[in-house]
Amino acid sequence: MRLLEERIKKDGQVLGQDVLKVDNFLNHQVDPDLMAAMGEEFQRLFQDKQITKILTVESSGIAPAVFAGLAFHVPVVFARKHKSLTLQDNMYSATVYSYTKKVNNHISISKKFLSADDRVLVIDDFLANGQAVEGLLSIIDAAGAQLEGVGIVIEKTFQKGRALLDQRGIQVESLARIAAFENGQVIFLDENK
Ligand code: 5GP
Repeated sequence: MRLLEERIKKDGQVLGQDVLKVDNFLNHQVDPDLMAAMGEEFQRLFQDKQITKILTVESSGIAPAVFAGLAFHVPVVFARKHKSLTLQDNMYSATVYSYTKKVNNHISISKKFLSADDRVLVIDDFLANGQAVEGLLSIIDAAGAQLEGVGIVIEKTFQKGRALLDQRGIQVESLARIAAFENGQVIFLDENK
């Protein structure tokens, strides 16, 4: 998505080898016009699916997920993160290793908000090693719901998340696909072609 790639070039900061900081428009300050355009784009990409619910993880997935939910006119549920694994009967839970924070988070969703009748679109801000999305997929399985696809704002194609999801035959659509960071600059996949 051109608008997003331009914004990443303008405001993204490369940290170390493989982390992109986008706190100017996505991870801290949020640009609602950009989020609205991304929501429309997710709707276009998954328009042939009968989506009934959007799932994400707090906190950075919420903004893009809500705008996707607005475009599809379906509810958005975000998994809540907590430190300890306190299993509760009324929750679906999974353990997710956080790539940026180097800690295990436990995520959970109330059984009230996900059922076997749901056809789910997963939305997240980044796809890196795929841990966050895998956690949501295990929750969707536990609920007996149907996964329709995964929509990602920024994918780092050099990390293993995409390959994991492709192996499972899942439709993954990323609005920006980063091939590499070179000398602190972002190189998009389509620039290499
Ligand atoms: P994964 O579970 O795919 O390894 O990582 C996904 C999660 O880690 C995302 O939801 C995001 O919060 C965080 N993350 C991974 N890579 C980056 C990055 O380069 N920049 C930022 N800001 N967050 C990232």
